[in-house]
Amino acid sequence: MVTDLKADCGSCFGLCCVALPFSASADFAVDKDAGVPCRNLQDDFRCGIHARLRQSGFPGCTVYDCFGAGQRVSQITFGGRDWRQAPDAAERMFAVFPVVRQLHELLWYLNEALALRPARSLHAELRRLRDETEGLAAGRPEELAELAVAEHRQQVNGLLLRTSELVRAQAPGGRKKSRRGADLIGARLSGADLRGAELRGAYLIAADLRGADLRQADFIGADLRDAQLAGADLTDAFFLTQMQLNAAHGDDATRLPAALARPAHWTDR
Ligand code: SF4
Repeated sequence: MVTDLKADCGSCFGLCCVALPFSASADFAVDKDAGVPCRNLQDDFRCGIHARLRQSGFPGCTVYDCFGAGQRVSQITFGGRDWRQAPDAAERMFAVFPVVRQLHELLWYLNEALALRPARSLHAELRRLRDETEGLAAGRPEELAELAVAEHRQQVNGLLLRTSELVRAQAPGGRKKSRRGADLIGARLSGADLRGAELRGAYLIAADLRGADLRQADFIGADLRDAQLAGADLTDAFFLTQMQLNAAHGDDATRLPAALARPAHWTDR
């Protein structure tokens, strides 16, 4: 089975809008506890302010990606029963959702790694871990609730790190100094040569990356909220997700990896 890793909110019972907590901040207008439905969630499991999330103080919702975990948990793991119809299963459903979300996120990266030619010497190992991850995500609710997902994540992470090294070594000039987990909040990096940079988990919040060369840079887990990407070149940047891009600002001149779309708010001005 090939897992669908794109969120299909129409097949989900609004799990992210109920299961997850959030705190009043620049990302969310109000506090909400885990397991409590968001006040904007309608009876049909649609968001009542979907078209105006940013203007209504909920930009955090526009950058959240369940990687298709919502529809799997709703339609497969719990067989189409929603948490209103089956309140007895609600607690378990909300506990299982973040576990499956993590597994789907790992599947996303593993699939991307399998498309990276410089990492082909690792493809057999990547396929094995992808299949194992698929099997775990297909588990029964009680199996998923017990799963040591952090351990599995660590295993996948090790392989993704090796993948990254192989890919970045192919960048012109070879691998750059690691900026893994670096505090680059508000950093002035416009026009910088960051080809092949390791930006894994870097804090690039509001960083000025206008016109930067970010080809073959590893973006896994990087925080790009309000980063300025106008005119930047992200061709062949990898482990970069649509939600990371949605959190940043760019323009028509920003060059993107083929699999990602230009966020609408980059041009809606
Ligand atoms: S604002 Fe809308 S998308 Fe965000 S949590 Fe509430 S119902 Fe869900």
